[in-house]
Amino acid sequence: MINGSTKIFGIIGNPVKHSLSPAMHNRAFAELGINAVYLPFCVEDIASAIKGMRAMGIHGVSVTIPHKESVFKELDEIDPVALKIGAVNTLRFVEVGGYTEVHGSNTDWLGANRALQEKINLAGKKAVIFGAGGSARAIGFGLQEEGAQISLCSRTEEKGRELASKLDCEWQPLSEAELLKGDVLINATSVGMAPLEKICLISKNGLNNFNVVMDIVYAPLKTKLLTDAEDVGCTVINGLEMLLYQGVAQFELWTGKVAPVEVMRQELMKGTGN
Ligand code: NAP
Repeated sequence: MINGSTKIFGIIGNPVKHSLSPAMHNRAFAELGINAVYLPFCVEDIASAIKGMRAMGIHGVSVTIPHKESVFKELDEIDPVALKIGAVNTLRFVEVGGYTEVHGSNTDWLGANRALQEKINLAGKKAVIFGAGGSARAIGFGLQEEGAQISLCSRTEEKGRELASKLDCEWQPLSEAELLKGDVLINATSVGMAPLEKICLISKNGLNNFNVVMDIVYAPLKTKLLTDAEDVGCTVINGLEMLLYQGVAQFELWTGKVAPVEVMRQELMKGTGN
């Protein structure tokens, strides 16, 4: 029941219509009996949106494309890993001496790490990441926070080498994917998602060189990569787990309570038609 004490949270981005976060967070608030609501806000002008949210007493928001980088200049405080990653996906509005400060952090890497840590202890492990985009960057810095040794493998050499140099790690072209070896393989490209759902960037032979395989694509839930990896005996993790745990980390940051993980997972499954 919404009343005069209801706390307001939300997601800012453009577009936001497709977002699964409102269903996930609202279900979590209801499950724990927290008087709060999470709404979608389609935002073009990020500076005006932050100013408005500060003035209106919004408590926290998720940030999605295209504002994960442009929001930086509106923030009073940025957490050190988000700074390294160069992207923020979570804002908290914090009262400090009568002024509302906006604090930014990144939970994408926490989501990826927690999804992986359910299956493997990352410290000292070797992880190969396919891709050199925003997610590869967040996951790469995140794995290093956990003490994993990473290398990148991607399509466009210049972009791949640029990210590898920021991460201070090796880079290989996709043509050499079959030769790579490691404990963990993570697909952080959009390959596997429609219209590329029949494509996999590595053969079953190459997958034999890994123990755990995570795909961050979550539609379909079982990508060709995960089907092939399972066929050769790898432990697999689907893309919904990263999405779930980045939301779990946001919820815990905003509420200070342990998130109801199972009901949040159920909402995501429903939202993706599974
Ligand atoms: P991005 O910044 O646009 O990066 C996309 C990456 O995919 C680039 O490295 C690109 O290669 C590569 N790529 C695209 N098509 C390719 C192809 N045909 N062959 C080889 N590489 C290809 O996107 P992003 O934000 O990192 O997101 C990547 C995927 O992750 C999307 O499908 C997104 O929906 C999903 N995602 C999932 C979660 C989750 O929580 N599960 C979170 C964020 C994103 P180049 O380097 O050559 O450009």
